[in-house]
Amino acid sequence: MSDILADGKAAGTAPSDGLAVLESQRSTAETFGIPLAVLAELTHRCPLQCPYCSNPIELDRGGSELTTEEWKKVLSELAEIGVLQIHFSGGEPTARKDLVELVQHATDVGLYSNLITSAVLLTKEKLSALADAGLCHVQISFQGNEPMVADRVAGLKNAHEKKIEAAKWTRELDLPLTVNAVMHRQNLHQLQDIIQMAVDLDADRLEVANVQYYGWALKNRAALMPTLEQIEESSRIVEEAATRLKGILAIDYVVPDYYALRPKKCMGGWGRQFFNISPAGKVLPCHAAESITGLEFESVRSNHSIAWIWQHSEAFNRYRGTGWMKEPCKSCEFREIDFGGCRCQAFALTGDAGNTDPACTLSPRHEEIFKQAEREAAAHQDRFLYRNFAGGTLETEGEHGA
Ligand code: SF4
Ligand code: SF4
Repeated sequence: MSDILADGKAAGTAPSDGLAVLESQRSTAETFGIPLAVLAELTHRCPLQCPYCSNPIELDRGGSELTTEEWKKVLSELAEIGVLQIHFSGGEPTARKDLVELVQHATDVGLYSNLITSAVLLTKEKLSALADAGLCHVQISFQGNEPMVADRVAGLKNAHEKKIEAAKWTRELDLPLTVNAVMHRQNLHQLQDIIQMAVDLDADRLEVANVQYYGWALKNRAALMPTLEQIEESSRIVEEAATRLKGILAIDYVVPDYYALRPKKCMGGWGRQFFNISPAGKVLPCHAAESITGLEFESVRSNHSIAWIWQHSEAFNRYRGTGWMKEPCKSCEFREIDFGGCRCQAFALTGDAGNTDPACTLSPRHEEIFKQAEREAAAHQDRFLYRNFAGGTLETEGEHGA
């Protein structure tokens, strides 16, 4: 693995291409091992329209997606450089007609595969074919615990019912199941019931992830931001359930940044533990990274190997480590613990990805942003801007039920 990391794709990489550029820019490139797991966003197409979708506002169109052969080549290359797990995600990965073929290829090259899906396009036959192709794990997203809330958030009628059905098929096929619940002001009151739903569906794991506010979620912040009381109550519910359900259901809980004192170590730190590949083949340090304007991300369609892009590309090195930091991060004792938080959030809220994430109480922008979020949570502007290729559609009064 280290040879490949050091040399890149020797045959296809011109000696002057980037390394010299990095050196001339005094890059802080260091050696980081290839992550064990990689996220493959096969497509941005999705029948759902979640207002918190982590896909970029500028979605990749179907015509720009990597072909079956291109994805197979990517999977082979990932296995070759030491990646062990591939998460097939999207958009909705089952919208790709070649998903079974891609899962089979992942199996053939020795990758453990996980499907992250909204599940509404699945049939039992399709899921069975994926299991036969070697799929190892299924993760289904839920927007609530019953159709009234869940279908409204998803922007699709009967979505909840289909998800329940698909979750049952998953367990009938003996595939391990994770329930993924994205929480916000308009569904947090269902948290207790969502936990019970995960138990009833015989899930191994429940991810309770409070919305992170960039991209679509930032556009919908006023409709999604929970109140402090909701967060306190949900922390209590999760803590109680985690103890009560020990050995039955593992619960992961992600608190919202806005109500924390310090930001999360986003993606384990920029370019340290994670990368994903976008539908059009861009290799990204996180799924929202393209929201940072002014950064050029390399593509698997370029002459560079994935290992080279990870190790040497300018975008991965720009915010790696701590050398890029300004105050207050630069001299902070936590700089190697949280790596300054989320670069995308810093860019979205301050206009400079090199600033301290305003989720941190030490950021000069924290107070102002936190107060604004509190006001938004209290104002109850509940209508969603639904995610779609047209740049979003505002929920009508009728849909909202107001
Ligand atoms: S968050 Fe919702 S809209 Fe976005 S890809 Fe997932 S299911 Fe589709
Ligand atoms: S100042 Fe920077 S390093 Fe220190 S806690 Fe805040 S975000 Fe983390």
